[in-house]
Amino acid sequence: LVERMTPFTSTIFAEITQLAVDTGAINLGQGFPDTDGPESLLADAAANITGGVNQYPPGPGVPALREAVAAHQQRFYGLEVDPADVLVTVGATEAIASAVLSLCTTGDEVIAFEPYYDSYPAMTALSGATLRTVPLRAPDFAFDPDELRAAFSARTRMILLNSPHNPTGAVFDREQLQIVADLATEHDVVVVSDEVYEHMTFDVPHIPIATLPGMAERTLTISSAGKTFSVTGWKIGWIHGPSELVAATRAVKQFLSYTAGAPLQPAVATALGLPDEFYTSIATSLRGKRELLSAGLKAAGFTVYQPRGTYFIVVDGRPLGFEDGYKLAYDLPSLCGVAAVPVSVFASSPEGVEAMRPLVRFAFCKRDEVLTEAVGRLAGLG
Ligand code: PMP
Ligand code: GLN
Repeated sequence: LVERMTPFTSTIFAEITQLAVDTGAINLGQGFPDTDGPESLLADAAANITGGVNQYPPGPGVPALREAVAAHQQRFYGLEVDPADVLVTVGATEAIASAVLSLCTTGDEVIAFEPYYDSYPAMTALSGATLRTVPLRAPDFAFDPDELRAAFSARTRMILLNSPHNPTGAVFDREQLQIVADLATEHDVVVVSDEVYEHMTFDVPHIPIATLPGMAERTLTISSAGKTFSVTGWKIGWIHGPSELVAATRAVKQFLSYTAGAPLQPAVATALGLPDEFYTSIATSLRGKRELLSAGLKAAGFTVYQPRGTYFIVVDGRPLGFEDGYKLAYDLPSLCGVAAVPVSVFASSPEGVEAMRPLVRFAFCKRDEVLTEAVGRLAGLG
């Protein structure tokens, strides 16, 4: 293994999911729903498979899906997107990889908020660039504008933004996004905006940074069918932005996977046009689950940081005597039959690792009866 990838030989999601399987624990670690997406979506994909839609689709994605992504951005955010500037990818993961690998190289710096999604440091390292982190701190996981400003240098090429934010559940408001936008503009930096949880916010709107004045021309926006339609195993994602940046991303993507999911892409295209009731039901249903799990975690004795978006809740284990979230995450399945992931693995700066040390993340994208059972098990912890 090349040296720059040696810190990334395993992922916490694979490890904790294996542990949950081995111990029979309820897996609230890796974030995946335990019910599949809309019936019509599943039926469409099945019909495509038996109906002969099984050979390579066009490299950039099937036209219907690229058009549907553009229509979705117009419908929800008023964003004008040319379907020619939409690239379909193997999940948001490949979109992130292609963007970083096509635009960043040795000597460049990439800024990400810490804690971060785990592919950001891995792809930054693979590109040869250096990661600069800016902390998000409990309780509200906002950033300090001065710390963000200080992270920029003449070498900064890209900032990786993720709102709604995994793992903290933070949702950046317009004021915070404007600070990012102003700094990105001042330093002529590309913003890669990972918006996979765009339809999962509670009480606050999701604002794509590309909608801020002047930002569409420097922003690559990423999302995924896995999250919106509860089909994480399909791995259909997309990225859109200014033509030159998308063309660069496409150059890398075409040699990573060439293309993806022929029978799935047209099904996702149709699903993107589902009525408003479908989209509002995503957050409505998750809100109840958030209440159920956060009440249970509070009752169990954790300090709970209520998320404003995503399907994750971060808690602090110290009130229960758990100083080390990493140890707690590995012990939790045997302690009470529930699995969660430690947050410190999503940090790499010494201060970030220390700040995240007592925190663990639980996923609540599960059936109510599963969450109720998990809450019952967690109640025995104190
Ligand atoms: N970004 C974030 C913030 C995520 O949470 C995830 C999924 N866990 C991804 C990207 C990857 O999405 P996909 O499964 O579509 O590759
Ligand atoms: N995005 C999901 C999470 O944060 C899982 C992703 C993965 O397994 N790589 O839990």
